[in-house]
Amino acid sequence: MPLIAIVEDEPSISEVVSLYMKRAGYQVQVYADGLAARDGLDRQVPDLVILDVMLPGLDGFALTRSLRDRSDVPIILLTSRREESDRIAGLELGADDYVVKPFSPQELVSRVRAVLRRLQRGEASEAAPLTFPGLRIDPQSRLVTVRGQEVELTAREFDMLYHLAQHPRQVFSRDRLLESVWGSADYIDPSTVTVHIRRLREKIEPDPADPTHLLTVWGVGYKFEP
Ligand code: CA
Repeated sequence: MPLIAIVEDEPSISEVVSLYMKRAGYQVQVYADGLAARDGLDRQVPDLVILDVMLPGLDGFALTRSLRDRSDVPIILLTSRREESDRIAGLELGADDYVVKPFSPQELVSRVRAVLRRLQRGEASEAAPLTFPGLRIDPQSRLVTVRGQEVELTAREFDMLYHLAQHPRQVFSRDRLLESVWGSADYIDPSTVTVHIRRLREKIEPDPADPTHLLTVWGVGYKFEP
């Protein structure tokens, strides 16, 4: 059974989330503050982390940064902040998704399932690496090398790059990318895609302002140019 870590200081929320996750067939580990979570997650790495942003000890953004330094465990942020900038900040730090409070626990279960299913699919794939001038994408090891240098991508960044590169020159709208890479376009802000594209460009393009692989098709979406 996959292990889900829930980091949330509000007992009424962590209890209902635990209940729904257990009912969905997951094991659950609850942490009520940021510092305890950082230590606990070091000792026992879960399959996915559900992480509240406003926490005592160490907030969700700081914890995301700390987790990302050590692992690419999927992170879903719980945020009561509705501001676009805060949500984007979480994604910039490497969170995979966010859910804005108040949320439906069933929606959260769907997101968790989508993330875990996508990872399993990635592990099961036996596809050959994709190679392009200056760029190699290996779905087996999930390694990306740019001009011979290994670059570190989050799980979601890898999935998006791999998906685009598997369909060279095909234009994908942001909604289609959400469906293919996130598993569903429901509940997810399409600007999530924009943020991931920008981060990918910074990691794989020699000049992120003038990309050669990850191109914007204005008014439509994005495409991969081999
Ligand atoms: Ca909180």
